[in-house]
Amino acid sequence: MMLNYSYPLYRPPSEADSLIFQVTLGCSFNECSFCDMYRSKEYSERPWEEVKAEIDIMSKTLPETRRIFLADGDALNLETDYMEKIVKYLYEKFPNLERVSCYAMPMNVLKKTPEELKSLRDSGLNMFYLGIESGSDLILKKVTKGATAATIIRACKKAMDVGYILSCMIILGLGGKTHSKEHIRGTAEVINASAPHYVGALTLYLENGIKEEFKTKFGEPFIPVNDSESLDELEDLIGRIDVKNEVIFRANHGSNAYTIKGTFPQDKQTMLDKISWMKQHPEVVRPTGLRGF
Ligand code: SF4
Repeated sequence: MMLNYSYPLYRPPSEADSLIFQVTLGCSFNECSFCDMYRSKEYSERPWEEVKAEIDIMSKTLPETRRIFLADGDALNLETDYMEKIVKYLYEKFPNLERVSCYAMPMNVLKKTPEELKSLRDSGLNMFYLGIESGSDLILKKVTKGATAATIIRACKKAMDVGYILSCMIILGLGGKTHSKEHIRGTAEVINASAPHYVGALTLYLENGIKEEFKTKFGEPFIPVNDSESLDELEDLIGRIDVKNEVIFRANHGSNAYTIKGTFPQDKQTMLDKISWMKQHPEVVRPTGLRGF
């Protein structure tokens, strides 16, 4: 038996095999101009009776579950006590459970005290997916992210300081052609300052429903980068990433024109060499028809 999900339902690609419980619906912010994921939903928090009933059902159907993802867009917005109650109950009902994760906005993390984050971590919530998108304050403002480079860095450090695994997303092409350099420079700075465990690079893809809003909020003509410029951004970004701790980097999302992956710092040169090779072999580009966000 499967759950009666409220669609649309999203989860990170690496949670494809995880069991998903929707503990919140929609996104409490819902204003990033590039994101239409939850535009059709009003943010709400699901009551304990409903969440518990679903956990009870699925613990009988899939008792061997090892990984659980808590949806929708920012489950970390829940009050700490309530989130903790849910996470503890999950471990009680799924004896083989190893990982519970959710999306988190920088603001969700910053709103919690270090003690609250630690207490949630101790109860078994162990991973956040956090959208950096860009490390440039100019671009973050133009895409109405509701965060600055400084708040993103603070949020990343705060989460990692109490032991969370952190997986961050950045979006190639988000500054358009005009602000490409600025976008990549700022993004590399944020990655260097926060060194999350994972960084995933996606490519900007605007759904028809939000294109006009995105352009209006951008505040100047938005000129998208083409595939070759996107590869230049990737090269510039990788070249600027300079971290001591390991950062697993993936630009293999379905939205990307080119696929690159490796671990910083040791694979940096190999990734740069691969990009040089790709520039000589543009035929390896992912066909437009096979791309998606
Ligand atoms: S990018 Fe994240 S925080 Fe922004 S509107 Fe979409 S789900 Fe909400």
